[in-house]
Amino acid sequence: MNYLKLVISVAGRYQESLIAELMEMEFNGFEQQEERIITYVPRGRLSAGDRERIEGILADCPGEGRVESEKVIADRNWNEQWERTIRPQRIGPFLVRPTWSREAATGEAVVLEIDPKMSFGTGYHETTRLMLRALPGLLDEGDRVLDAGTGTGILAIAACKLGASRALSVDIDRWSVTNARENVLLNGVKACVEVRLGSLEAVDEEERFELAMANIERNTIVELLEPMAARLAPGGRLLLSGLLSSDRGAVEEALPAGLQLTGESRENDWIALTARRTGS
Ligand code: SAH
Repeated sequence: MNYLKLVISVAGRYQESLIAELMEMEFNGFEQQEERIITYVPRGRLSAGDRERIEGILADCPGEGRVESEKVIADRNWNEQWERTIRPQRIGPFLVRPTWSREAATGEAVVLEIDPKMSFGTGYHETTRLMLRALPGLLDEGDRVLDAGTGTGILAIAACKLGASRALSVDIDRWSVTNARENVLLNGVKACVEVRLGSLEAVDEEERFELAMANIERNTIVELLEPMAARLAPGGRLLLSGLLSSDRGAVEEALPAGLQLTGESRENDWIALTARRTGS
C-alpha cells in the first residue's frame, strides 16, 4: 500500500486538536515540529470531504495554517521513516522507549515501554515529561495513585514501577482505555494498574489516594479539581499539567479549600503544578 505524506504548517498550540481530528481520518505517525506536523495516511483513504475538513480546521487556526506539501511514498519506507524519528528518551529516572527499540537501559533507568500510537503520552509532549519528572518527588512507596486522563497509561505505569501499590486510571476516550490496557500488560504492571472508561464519576466517592494526577487542559483541570481533591487522603498530593504558564492563575483561583500550591515546574511555555492537602 502507498501512503500520502503530508506536511502541514500549524502553530504549536493547535497541533494536538488537529492531530485528534486527523486520527479520525486514519492519519498515522505524527511527527511534531515547532510550527509543523508531518503525518501519513493510506493513499486513497483521504476523501475530498476529509481534505475540506482539514482546510476548514486550518482556516479556524489563527496564523498561517496550511498544507505545505504532499507526497506519495511506499509503505515499506513509511514505516521505517517514521519509526526512525521515534527515539528512546531519558526523562527523570525513566527510559521511555518504543517496543521495537533495541536501546538497552543503562544504569538505574526505570524502563517504560510505550509505542507511539498516539502523539500524547509517548513522552514526546512537554507536559508528559513534566509529569514524569515530578513523579518521583511526590510518590512514596505503597501510595495509592489516581491518574485522570490516562491516555497511553504512561503515568500510572510509571507510578507502579516506582513503588505505588495501586493506580486507578480513568479516561473518557474508549480508544485510550484500550491502548492503556495494552501498555499495562506490556510493562508487566497488571496487578497494580486498573483502567476504567469514564472520568471522576467512575471513581468511588469513598476511595482515597495519596497522589492524584491529571495532565489534560486548563478547563478540564479546573472542572476536575473538586472531585479529585475530595478523593485525596490527608496530606495527599495533586500533580497537574496540560497547563500553559498563563493558566496558573485560573488553577490557583479554582483550588478547593484545604489545598495549597506547593510547586511549579516548566518546559517551554508549559507548566506542571503541585498542591498538597493540608489538615485531615
Ligand atoms: N496522561 C497522559 C495522557 C494525557 S492526554 C500523559 O500525561 O501523557 C489527556 C487525556 O485525557 C486524553 O487521553 C483524553 O481522552 C483524556 N480526557 C480528557 N478529558 C477528560 C475528562 N474529563 N476525564 C477523564 N479523561 C479525560
